[in-house]
Amino acid sequence: MQELKKEVQAEIAGKKGSVYTLQFDDLKAWLQEAGEPSFRADQIFYWLYDKRVEQFDEMTNLSKALRERLSSTFSITPLKEVAKQESVDGTVKLLFELEDGNTIETVVMKHGYGNSVCVTSQVGCRLGCTFCASTLGGLKRNLEAGEITAQVLASQRALDEKGERVSSVVVMGIGEPFDNYKELIGFLKVINHDKGLNIGARHITVSTSGVVPKIYDFADEKLQINFAVSLHAPTTEIRSRLMPVNRAWPLDKLMESIKYYQETTNRRVTFEYGLFGGVNDQVEHAKQLAELIKGLKCHVNLIPVNHVPERDYVRTKREDIFAFEKTLKEAGVNVTIRREQGHDIDAACGQLRANEGKKK
Ligand code: SF4
Repeated sequence: MQELKKEVQAEIAGKKGSVYTLQFDDLKAWLQEAGEPSFRADQIFYWLYDKRVEQFDEMTNLSKALRERLSSTFSITPLKEVAKQESVDGTVKLLFELEDGNTIETVVMKHGYGNSVCVTSQVGCRLGCTFCASTLGGLKRNLEAGEITAQVLASQRALDEKGERVSSVVVMGIGEPFDNYKELIGFLKVINHDKGLNIGARHITVSTSGVVPKIYDFADEKLQINFAVSLHAPTTEIRSRLMPVNRAWPLDKLMESIKYYQETTNRRVTFEYGLFGGVNDQVEHAKQLAELIKGLKCHVNLIPVNHVPERDYVRTKREDIFAFEKTLKEAGVNVTIRREQGHDIDAACGQLRANEGKKK
């Protein structure tokens, strides 16, 4: 008989884990152990991800005994919505309370092509980027795969009311996804599974701040998922100032790992580059950046960073943004300036959570 995965064994041993953490094959294995036919896994995934029920009792084509067994073994992760902000441009920022009282943010953005959901992967973050509001309280804990999936489901439920769908998912919210690697991969497999949320790999993006060893692992997974790196600096000195992660894995090591990723997967990489007034936003920096990424199949996404009240950075001047973009274009770099969304709400990473915390 197929050996049950550790987490499934833990569930059986009494820990009530999230049913959304279970991958399709894990559920099949659990059902086999329970003496149930494997097609029940199809039925359960249908109820969870198509019908989006929130109680096992609503799975009416399962026997009462199986429903009871499911609910005594797993929970359908509840996310309690505790705050919601809606921007005039359609961006919706949601603050959820987890079962242990911690809070996390999820953002739903409206684009011409559909709705994208930006999920949180950790409660807080320990990487301490100096421009980030989520670092103020440090890392509290990793999210389980099911708690990340639950954010997409909660967003989809909100969109159900408007008859719309989640068309893409970005793992760019609070937390460093590669600092919670195993749960991240579990989450990606569930939302990508054709019996799960069935979100195409090419509509999923994972962004890292540069946890180099995990970039090698991620390359070796050979997933068709989009990959982004928060680069934010053209030199190791500037990067260390903005992102302490650069002291653990300096820029040259990061670039080596990105080259390995590209050689292994042949996929394009997106570089996120936040523009910070007077820090990394001058023409000389654009020239250094073009040199740094020369030869890579990539795209640069320039992000004029919102002012975060707790931090000292100022917004880049409009003319400097365009001069930066022009310099990159002249060097043959594929570049765009990110359209700002949610400007009238607490849109910077961690702001809603930080502000709600202050109110409390
Ligand atoms: S920007 Fe991302 S990686 Fe950096 S501290 Fe904030 S949440 Fe963590």
